[in-house]
Amino acid sequence: MATNRTFTMLKPDSLEKGYTGAILEKINAAGFRIVAMKMTHMTKRDAEAFYAVHSERPFFGELVEYMTRGPIVAAILEKDNAVEDFRVLIGATNPEEAADGTIRKLYAASIGENAVHGSDSDENAAIEGAFHFSGREMF
Ligand code: UDP
Ligand code: MG
Repeated sequence: MATNRTFTMLKPDSLEKGYTGAILEKINAAGFRIVAMKMTHMTKRDAEAFYAVHSERPFFGELVEYMTRGPIVAAILEKDNAVEDFRVLIGATNPEEAADGTIRKLYAASIGENAVHGSDSDENAAIEGAFHFSGREMF
């Protein structure tokens, strides 16, 4: 079933570099409503579970290391066509390939440290949102 929600994380590099406010402003300006939001610090176990689909990939160890090295901002966002529109707003995984004006083009350092997460399907948006938030934290 199609939904109008997606899930995002502002990754540790975004918080370290002080980009939190600027990225949230881009998200607001693009018309997303914040359904849930919090600052949290993922444990190794959290990151391994969240990214389990990538566990066989060569970059998995580095990805877990990166995602656990500092706090993140996790959020559920709402808008028509949220999953697809948010992927457009963040740009390609590799910032060198990301379109001008996208969040990754503006704020990501590399394919590994790429500033933000965006769900890739409605199904994963629901799973990822529920990973970080209980029903009573969604508004
Ligand atoms: N990643 C990486 N090296 C790669 C591909 C991905 O370090 O070659 C990291 C990067 O942080 C990326 C995350 O793993 O955002 C998840 O990869 P995915 O292919 O799902 O990219 P995304 O959906 O985040 O654009
Ligand atoms: Mg992905």
